[in-house]
Amino acid sequence: MTVVTRFPPSPTGFLHIGSARTALFNWLYARHRGGKFLLRIEDTDRERSTGESVRTIFEGLRWLELDWDNEDVPMQFERRGRHAAAARELLEKGLAYYCYCSPEELEARRAEQKAKGLPMRYDGIWRARDPKDAPPGIKPVVRLKAPQDGVTTLKDHVRGEVTVRNSQLDDLILLRADGTPTYMLSVVVDDHDMGITHVIRGDDHFTNTFRQAQIIKALGWKQPEYAHIPLILGPDGTKLSKRHGALGVSAYRDMGYLPEAMRNYLLRLGWSHGDDEIISTGQAIQWFDLEHVQSSPARFDFAKLDSINGHYLREAKDSRLAKDVAGRLAASSGVDLNDAQKALLEKAMPGLKTRAKTLRELAESAAFYVAARPLPLSDKARKLLASGALDLLKEFARILEKQGDFSAPAIEAACRGLAEAKGKKLGDIAQPLRAALTGGTTSPPIFEVASLLGKDEVLARMRDVSGH
Ligand code: GLU
Repeated sequence: MTVVTRFPPSPTGFLHIGSARTALFNWLYARHRGGKFLLRIEDTDRERSTGESVRTIFEGLRWLELDWDNEDVPMQFERRGRHAAAARELLEKGLAYYCYCSPEELEARRAEQKAKGLPMRYDGIWRARDPKDAPPGIKPVVRLKAPQDGVTTLKDHVRGEVTVRNSQLDDLILLRADGTPTYMLSVVVDDHDMGITHVIRGDDHFTNTFRQAQIIKALGWKQPEYAHIPLILGPDGTKLSKRHGALGVSAYRDMGYLPEAMRNYLLRLGWSHGDDEIISTGQAIQWFDLEHVQSSPARFDFAKLDSINGHYLREAKDSRLAKDVAGRLAASSGVDLNDAQKALLEKAMPGLKTRAKTLRELAESAAFYVAARPLPLSDKARKLLASGALDLLKEFARILEKQGDFSAPAIEAACRGLAEAKGKKLGDIAQPLRAALTGGTTSPPIFEVASLLGKDEVLARMRDVSGH
């Protein structure tokens, strides 16, 4: 059997982080089984669906590198004629019927049931009635003639086997009074027509599945396999809020997370392979299964995401990181970097990327390399450049002017020489030097920084702080 999974987002906003995880699980399962991963846009909520949101979803999936296998992505609303035809087929087979209850009537019945302490559900009154008895002016809905006895059992890869008595499920609506199909019907027909074999989706759809199973049965179709994955909670176990990270995928891109780190993190958020934390996408494709999807909700944890991202940053190519950082710095300053600056950033990456957790941090820590002179000084840097230190720095500048070898070890040796001659510690010169060259008090090893900046720039920055 060829496995076919799907990701059917509703385009009513950004690609939410929880949906991205659902997409990832479907993608991984399809890739693991050598099957297909299909995308579908569920745009039947006409008021809330937007083209902008469809674009955001495509962009988010592309950024996460979750490629889908169908070139023509079905738009659910366009398929409403097909959905309605399926309902008519059930009408013809006597497995669905017209219901002429007015909304007021339904409301009155519900109130009656409530008063009697009965469960509030449609009682199937139009199952047996003749449409000829329909009250005038009422447009009927089409309801499924759902089984009233027996049970519906679902085998879920995560939840296990769950059984519901059919008497608990009422005759659900397939077509509304205006003839439009309901979500329950559309999803079943689309999954069938797309040949979906495995439905992997959020737990919030679990109860729908019993109703969908009844429609599938009435239509005589084969049921797909199901895996309902628990929701993602905030670190404190409450519903994931914006503050906790309930954001769109693009927000994570902007915050400076790498797509491969996001995949790794989202995978671990609900699936495990022993104690492994770092799982490359290649390994994930090899290992992913539905049996190890966790059955209890995972908690979102930025600290863990940061540490995973840090790992992938250190592994990433310097050219790639430098390109991203250059883009971020240009965006924040409004000035594009020139080629020499871009090359300098790339050379600086090995020293910078060991400390950064995100690309944003990396860009912040790299900014001094390409900043326009004179560099702004932090308060701490200013304090380091008190008069005694400045005298030393000026003397060091005179030595560096004559320095031929501008490698980090050679600059360090020159600095040591001066410190010893003056009876000072290395740091007495190195720290003010750091302040002059970076405008701050933390940076990669300062002699490496100096060597990368080059003699002219180093001397110019030293001059900037000593005032001549
Ligand atoms: N469109 C639904 C959603 O975004 C998905 C439904 C499904 O997976 O069956 O929640």
